[in-house]
Amino acid sequence: MIAPSKAQLAFDKKNIWHPYTGMIDPLPVYPVVSASGVKLKLSDGRELIDGMSSWWAVIHGYNHPILNNAVKKQLETMSHVMFGGLTHLSAIEVSQLLVDITPLPLETVFLCDSGSISVEVAIKMAIQYWFAKGLPDKNKLVTIRCGYHGDSFGAMSVCDPITGMHQIFQSILPSQYFAKAPTCNFYSFNPQDIESMKNILEHNHQSVAAVILEPIVQGAGGMRFYSPEYLSKVRSLCDSYDILLIADEIATGFGRTGKLFACEYANISPDIMCLGKALTGGYMTMAATLTSRKVSDQISTGNPGVFMHGPTFMANPMACAVALASIKLLLSTTWDKFVHNIETQLRQELMPLFDCSNVADVRVLGAIGVVELKTPVKMSVIQQKFVDHGVWLRPFGRLVYTMPPFIITPSDLSKITFAINDVISKM
Ligand code: PMP
Repeated sequence: MIAPSKAQLAFDKKNIWHPYTGMIDPLPVYPVVSASGVKLKLSDGRELIDGMSSWWAVIHGYNHPILNNAVKKQLETMSHVMFGGLTHLSAIEVSQLLVDITPLPLETVFLCDSGSISVEVAIKMAIQYWFAKGLPDKNKLVTIRCGYHGDSFGAMSVCDPITGMHQIFQSILPSQYFAKAPTCNFYSFNPQDIESMKNILEHNHQSVAAVILEPIVQGAGGMRFYSPEYLSKVRSLCDSYDILLIADEIATGFGRTGKLFACEYANISPDIMCLGKALTGGYMTMAATLTSRKVSDQISTGNPGVFMHGPTFMANPMACAVALASIKLLLSTTWDKFVHNIETQLRQELMPLFDCSNVADVRVLGAIGVVELKTPVKMSVIQQKFVDHGVWLRPFGRLVYTMPPFIITPSDLSKITFAINDVISKM
C-alpha cells in the first residue's frame, strides 16, 4: 500500500487539475491507496463505502478477481497494438458480444477511447450518413433540455446549455435544436411533453441528421427520469421524419436502470447507440458506438466511402479483454435481481426524506437513488460530512445521489442511505 507523501499531495494541490475545479483554491481531494469490493481505502486508514461506482462504471466492485485475471492474461500476451490494419481476438470477441446483447438492428461496432468520444463518433456517423446520401444539409442535431453527453466540442453542443456546465463555450459551439425536457416522471407520460420535439422536427427535419438523447435517465444534466412513452414517441417521430435516433446509453447501459439497456423500457432500437463507463467494469477507459448495417453501409458506399475517425488507442486489447470479462460476468449473475433489490431498498430508505423541509424530490430507478434539494449544496462541506460517515458520494448542484456497485450488501447500502438521511436532515 503506497500512500502519497505530504510533499506529493502539496504538488497535487498546486499542479494537478482535478475535474470541475480551479487551481487557485481547488476542492479538497482524498488520497485513495487501494480499493476492493465496494470499499475505498484512504491513506489515513479510513474506509469509505463507494456510493458512486466511480461515476457509474464500477458495477462489479473494485479489485474483482475475474476482471483482474482478464487484464493480467491480456497483458502477458499483448498490452496494445494499433487497430489500423491490425485486429485481435479481444476486440472481436467483445464486439461480437456487444452485437448480441444490444437491440437489433445494431450490428456494427466502433471502439473508441471514452464516452465523450463515442458521442463524437455517433454525431459524425449521423452527419456522414446523410452526406453519403447526397443530403449534406441534414447536419443538425436535436436533443432535449437537461441532457448531458460529455465534455468534447460536439458533445458539449448537445448538453443542456444551462445545466450542462458548458455555457461559456456557447458562442463557438455548433448550434443545435433543444426540445423541452420531458416531465421528470418515469411512471406517467404527459402528452404535452412531446409537443416541443414534434414542433422542432416538423419545421426543421430537412436540416436534422439525428435526435440524440439519454434514454429514460438524464444523468449529469439533472438526474431526471422520464417516461418510456416519451422515448417511444420520439422514435416514431424520427421514423416519420426520416431522422436517425442516437441513444446515449453511456450511463444507463449494462443494467443500471433495471434493464440491460434503458431503451428496452420503451421497446425501441436506436439507429446509433453509445456505450461506455460500465463497459469495462470501470477498469479502463473504453467506449463503443454501435450502429445499424443501414447506416454503416451508406457511409461506406457514399463519398468518401470510409468513416473518418481512428484514435491511437482504438480497441486497446487490455480494455477489450476486461470489457469482455465484465459483460460475461454481468450476464452470468442475477444482476437484475441485485438491481431490483437495491431499488427496493433505496426506495424504502430514501423516501422518508420527502418529509424534510429542504427536500424538493426523492426518486429512485434501478440502482440509482436521487434526492433533489431546494437549494444547492456546498460541495466541499457536504463531501466532508459524507466522508465522516464513511461513505463516498459526490453531490452536485441541488442533487445528492447514489448509484452503488451492484454487489453492495444491504447493510453497506444502509450505511449510504443513513448518511444521506442524516446529512440532509441536519442541513
Ligand atoms: N454521456 C453520458 C450520458 C454521460 O453520463 C457521460 C459521462 N458523465 C458522457 C457521455 C461522457 O463520458 P466520458 O466522461 O467517458 O467522456
